[in-house]
Amino acid sequence: MRLLILTICASAWAASPVSIEQRFAQLKKNPPELYQFLLRMPKGGDLHNHLSGAVYAESYIAAAAEDGLCADMNALKIVVCAPGLIDAQRVAKDNTLRNTLIDALSMRNFVPGRESGHDHFFATFGKFGPIKEEHRGEFLAEVVRRAADQNESYLEVMAINGRAADALAAQIGEMKDYDAAKDALLRAGLDKVVEAMRARVAEMDRGRVRALGCDTKPDTPACRVVVRYLYEVIRESPLKEIFAEVLAGCMLTATDPLVVGINFVAPEDGLVSMRDYHEQMRMVGYAKHLYPKAHVSLHAGELAPGLIPPEGLRFHIREAVELGHAERIGHGVDILYETGAAQLLETMRDRHIMVEINLSSNDLILGVRGKDHPLPSYRKAGVPVALATDDEGVSRGHLTLEYVRAALDYGLTYAELKKMARNSLEYSFLPEDEKARAKAELERRFAEFEKLDKPRQ
Ligand SMILES: [Zn+2]
Repeated sequence: MRLLILTICASAWAASPVSIEQRFAQLKKNPPELYQFLLRMPKGGDLHNHLSGAVYAESYIAAAAEDGLCADMNALKIVVCAPGLIDAQRVAKDNTLRNTLIDALSMRNFVPGRESGHDHFFATFGKFGPIKEEHRGEFLAEVVRRAADQNESYLEVMAINGRAADALAAQIGEMKDYDAAKDALLRAGLDKVVEAMRARVAEMDRGRVRALGCDTKPDTPACRVVVRYLYEVIRESPLKEIFAEVLAGCMLTATDPLVVGINFVAPEDGLVSMRDYHEQMRMVGYAKHLYPKAHVSLHAGELAPGLIPPEGLRFHIREAVELGHAERIGHGVDILYETGAAQLLETMRDRHIMVEINLSSNDLILGVRGKDHPLPSYRKAGVPVALATDDEGVSRGHLTLEYVRAALDYGLTYAELKKMARNSLEYSFLPEDEKARAKAELERRFAEFEKLDKPRQ
C-alpha cells in the first residue's frame, strides 16, 4: 500500500508542469537563454529615456553626413565644417575614423583613467553636433522600433527642453516674489513661447509617425507603441531661467496631451545644481501648485559618496518629494545617505512615489553597482520601482539588458520582474482612461507570452 502511494505521488509529480518561475530559475544559469526569454517578455513602458542619449552614435554620424557637417577628430565631436576638419561623409565611410568617433560619442570601449566614467558619459551630450531638428522624427523612430522589438508598449521620452523660455527670464527683475515673477513672465509673453513649444512637439511627433510609416500601416508593432513626451528643465541654468523653464513646462504639460510631465536634467553634482537645488525644488512646488495637472518626475539622488562632499548627499530625494512634489524619482541612488532615510522610504511607500531604476547608467556614471545599489532596499521598504534605460545609446544598452541585470545581480524572480513591468504603466503619466487601456494591453501580452512560453515537461 505504501509503495502504491509513493508510486502515485511520483507519477503525479512527474506529470506536473514546470512552472514559469521554475523555468526562470533555470534560465538564470544560462544568461544568453535568459536574455532570449526576457527579450520576448512584455515590459510595459520605459519611463526614463532621454531622446538625445537614446540614439546610437552610428545614427548621429549618419545624420551629420546627411547634414553636411564635419568631425573634429582632436576634440572628437561633430561640428560645423571649418578648414582642417574632416567631412562627416568621409567619417561615415572610414572604419577607423568612425570607430574612434563612436567610442567618443558613447561608453563603448571606455576605460577610466584621467577621464572618469561620469565625465565621459556627460561629455557625450556636447559631441552630437548641431544636427538638424528635422532628424528628431527619425531618431524617435529608432527608439520606438527598439522598444517594439523588446515587446515594450509605452514610452515616456524626455525630448523637449525649456531653453526657449530663457530669453524671457531677464524680464523678471529681482527674483524675490514668485507671484510677481510669474506675472512678469506672462506679461512678457510666456504663453506665446509655450505655444511655439507645442508646435515643435507636434512637428516632432508627426516626424515620428512619418518615419515609422504609421499613416499607411498603423498596425505594425512600432506604431502600436504609445509615445508621450516629458519636458526637461536644464538644472545648471541660472535661477531666473529655471523659474521661466519650470513655469513654461507646467503650462505646456497642462495643455498639451502629448507632453505628460516635467523633469530636470544635467548632472546633479554640477556647481549650479548643487548650489541652487533647494530653490529649484521650491520653484517646482510653486509651479505644480499653480498647474496641478502637470505631472512631475525628478532626477534626484543621482549621486554617490566621493563625487561631492557628504553633506550634499543628505537631502536631494527628500526635497524632490517634499518641496518639488515629485510623483516619481529618477535614480534615487543616494537614498541611504540621506538624513532620515528610513522615514523617507516610508513616506515614498505611503505616497506611492515610484523610483525609476537605471542600473547600467548608475554603474557607468557613478560606479554604483551590485551590492552598493539601493534597489534591494527600495524593494524591502515597499517603495514601487520600475526598470528604465536612461541613455541607452550612450550606454550601448537597451531595456532587456536592464532586466537581465536585475535578474542576475539582484536575484529577482519572474513575478518580481512582471511587477516592475506593471509598475511602469501604473506609475506612467498617461491620463486614467489611456492608462487603463495600456494596462489591459499589457495583461493581454502577458497572457500570450506565458501561453506561448509554456515550458515543455
Ligand atoms: Zn536621466
